[in-house]
Amino acid sequence: MHDHPMHDHPMHDHPMHDHRKLGRELGLFDTDPLIGSGLPYWLPDGAVIRHTLEEYIRDAERRAGYRHVYSPVLGKRELYEISGHWSHYSDDMFPPMDLGGEQVVLRPSLCPHHALIYRSRSHSYRELPLRVAELGGMYRSELSGVLGGLTRVRAIQLNDAHIFCTLDQVAAEAAGALEMIGRAYAALGIRPVRYRLSLPGAGGKYVAAPEMWRRATAMLTDVLDRSGLPYEAVEGEAAFYGPKIDVQIADGAGREATLSTVQVDFHQPEQFDLHYIGPDGGRHRPVMVHRSIIGSVERAVAHLIEVYGGAFPAWLAPTQVVVLPVTEAELPRAEALVRRCAELGLRAEVSGPEHGSLGARVRAARLAPYQAVIGAKEAAGDEIALRLRDGRALDAMPAAEALARIGDLVAARTTALWEPAVQRA
Ligand SMILES: [Zn+2]
Repeated sequence: MHDHPMHDHPMHDHPMHDHRKLGRELGLFDTDPLIGSGLPYWLPDGAVIRHTLEEYIRDAERRAGYRHVYSPVLGKRELYEISGHWSHYSDDMFPPMDLGGEQVVLRPSLCPHHALIYRSRSHSYRELPLRVAELGGMYRSELSGVLGGLTRVRAIQLNDAHIFCTLDQVAAEAAGALEMIGRAYAALGIRPVRYRLSLPGAGGKYVAAPEMWRRATAMLTDVLDRSGLPYEAVEGEAAFYGPKIDVQIADGAGREATLSTVQVDFHQPEQFDLHYIGPDGGRHRPVMVHRSIIGSVERAVAHLIEVYGGAFPAWLAPTQVVVLPVTEAELPRAEALVRRCAELGLRAEVSGPEHGSLGARVRAARLAPYQAVIGAKEAAGDEIALRLRDGRALDAMPAAEALARIGDLVAARTTALWEPAVQRA
């Protein structure tokens, strides 16, 4: 029935890289002891990848009928007492700040803010499902001993969304989120190691409402069974308010982490007294489906660095075209080509003869998907000789034609470098 491209790939067939080492070598992100551990900052090349990824996600969400919001990264302690975070999750939260007699905390999740956004207006059943999305900040008080790179951080930018829907709509919304995850993984070249149905375990971490857990678990089990995806049920991995479908990825050392998630929540709609007006004119309780396609932006970019070893697909690459004038004489042509790239929305830079021989510059730019060589002959005819990252050297062609082709490939967000030919968007 549904097409799940991620299903075809068992595990990575090539060694993965350490994103912390590569992140430093490639100038993508770094940390400073004065900012603090677990609080990385993004350098320009890393920021390009992050921004491009965020735009991809917003675009995918917009097409899938989500509406985007912004909400503050702080909230009053009382907000998290109502949501249940305070009693079930406070070990992972930053201590509250006293502010004129009020206590304010850095938020541990976006759900309570989105519940309040929903509650701020009255809703008819005709508006449901209402899909509210935000790429927003959240904070986790990880101990400094376990921090490092982009995978264990204290400040997290989460690709989050909450779907407010009727009970009848839950299965379709959860299945739709699972399909979005599959499409995003195919576009990004991410392969999951397994799907997990995350259930509650022993201990007081979970809200006590057996009937609610039973219903939510039955719904997610049904969604997974219908999807045809292999999965395993694991106890002790649920959210405190409900069970989850988690999509697991692994790093080069085989350490597993959750990247994407789909959750069914009856608890927070109850806590925040959410309702919609049904066809009968009466008040009804919506269900909240929490979902994240790529999880945190930090973890997603860390994983992409490890998968690609810095050789990113053209649409994500910090520098897409490196322009190589053979001699000083072609430098003005090279600089003009960089400006043309910028006008077309392509990221390009010149690597001139001051950086060494042509061979040395070709090697130095080996991670760039495209190298545009301009010698005397090319300069005279407004042509470029393209070298692709996979080693192919193409015959000289008109610069306009080459840039249009690259622009099409980037717009299509394909992992292909040159073929197959794509339709203009
Ligand atoms: Zn949530």
